[in-house]
Amino acid sequence: MQTSIDLVRRHPARYRVLTGDRPTGPLHLGHYFGTLQNRVRLQQLGVELFVVVADYQVLTDRDLADRPAGHAEELVLDYLAAGVDPDRATIFTHSAVPALNQLLLPFLSLVSVAELGRNPTVKDEIAHSRQGSVSGLMFTYPVHQAADILFCKANLVPVGQDQLPHLETTRTVARRFNDRYATAVFPEPEALLSEAPLLLGTDGTKMSKSRGNAIPLGATEDRTARLIRGATTDADRRITYDPVGRPEVSSLVLLAALCQGREPAAVAEEIGSGGAAALKRHVTEAVNEHLRPLRARRAELAKDRAHLRDVLRAGNERANALADATLSEVRHAMGMG
Ligand code: ATP
Ligand code: MG
Repeated sequence: MQTSIDLVRRHPARYRVLTGDRPTGPLHLGHYFGTLQNRVRLQQLGVELFVVVADYQVLTDRDLADRPAGHAEELVLDYLAAGVDPDRATIFTHSAVPALNQLLLPFLSLVSVAELGRNPTVKDEIAHSRQGSVSGLMFTYPVHQAADILFCKANLVPVGQDQLPHLETTRTVARRFNDRYATAVFPEPEALLSEAPLLLGTDGTKMSKSRGNAIPLGATEDRTARLIRGATTDADRRITYDPVGRPEVSSLVLLAALCQGREPAAVAEEIGSGGAAALKRHVTEAVNEHLRPLRARRAELAKDRAHLRDVLRAGNERANALADATLSEVRHAMGMG
């Protein structure tokens, strides 16, 4: 189930948003155009915003969480630089909110092992995993995400396309909980996709923090140029916008179009027969120009690490109060207290 930003614009007070990211590295252009811009837009419409730094979820496919605390602050830095207002948003780490995690037990009882095994995003992540064995968390983290979303009763989740199966899991959990315990504790949340629900990385697969194919938001202009220069394209000198037939070239065209607020077909037309080199020069300029103000804000905000920690501390406090209240409701509905 998906909704559109126009629908939200008509009734912003009806919505509450939760979304988040794993602290596995700095945010990239896929995050920015896939979900982060929508978070900011929704907040500007007056919708209440919750953002989870999904630190427990790092354990899904890592032996050692790679400096998760430092990465959490980096995420906050990216959020604030992109325009999230920390005074109105609740930004928290889920390991700091025990009652949220406790929801996982009743939620896991509501889905079957067969359902967990059918999740196409989980299958794709296993295929790209560099680990020798697949952890149990790989199959259950979508249910953990249901706890992230439902602890604050969010009904709107701005995400990339890879998250749609997980959101279906959340809807299933909410519906089954309400049915099994004859209650109306949880809403069935809807996804909000952007114009770039699946931005490709420099190797032509989904841009991901952990695949070494990302263009970080906070990269310097030179590094951005280098990364784009190394992106996979094809040999056809005529640049066209054809996401199905020419996914790599089209993802670059889309990137430029999003940065410039133009139609992708018009961008492709302008580059014409210039080939991949002209396309890459165009994209590099568009990205660097679009991100210049964000990067300047980011550099400014990075000077005050204590502020980033304060934002998380305040968010954790607020999230704990809500999670405690929801867990009480859940336990009551289940006849446990
Ligand atoms: P990792 O490789 O560690 O899983 P990731 O790059 O996939 O990192 P996540 O933290 O898993 O990032 O995803 C956070 C959010 O960003 C999700 O809503 C996801 O859908 C969105 N997102 C991530 N990558 C892209 C992309 N390439 N295009 C659009 N949205 C994306
Ligand atoms: Mg991911």
